[in-house]
Amino acid sequence: MSKRIIAYLGLGANLGDPLSQLQQALALLHHSQGISVRQISSLYETSPVGYVDQPNFFNLVAEIDTVLPPSQLLCATQRVEQCLHRVRKERFGPRTMDVDILLYDQRIVEMPELTIPHPRLLERAFALIPLYELAGEMTIPSGQKIKEAIDALPQDQWIKKQPFSW
Ligand code: AMP
Repeated sequence: MSKRIIAYLGLGANLGDPLSQLQQALALLHHSQGISVRQISSLYETSPVGYVDQPNFFNLVAEIDTVLPPSQLLCATQRVEQCLHRVRKERFGPRTMDVDILLYDQRIVEMPELTIPHPRLLERAFALIPLYELAGEMTIPSGQKIKEAIDALPQDQWIKKQPFSW
């Protein structure tokens, strides 16, 4: 039998009806073969990073357990993005659904199409703060505690908890 791995996914949306899309994305992930959503963080409204002339994002982190290897997990998360009719013009631009693999157990993955831990995890309050809710004491593969990474963030990212259920 395949080993069950704990992984953390970052979900975000800022077009259409972001809350409903996040609910649908969680349901799609939970019903994907080889993935169970164990728990989710609070929902956070965040100001856009990078390409700033776009609506605020709604972000959360999901803790999953999975028997899928990293590349198959990426296929599953990309299927969820496609199901929600992801539209993406600019790299950091608006989107109906973005699903990033933040962490996969304590593994470091460096493949052409997939880098884990997610390459921008340590720069993003909207990923680290919800991750801290779910895995407060965890050390990431760089050896850093999540709280230390949060404390090292620049103070210019606006982030606010919002009500959510799924
Ligand atoms: P983005 O526009 O930020 O959603 O980037 C999507 C691209 O990033 C995809 O083509 C993936 O192959 C690649 N990618 C690399 N590492 C990751 C990761 N950890 N999670 C999700 N996508 C990733």
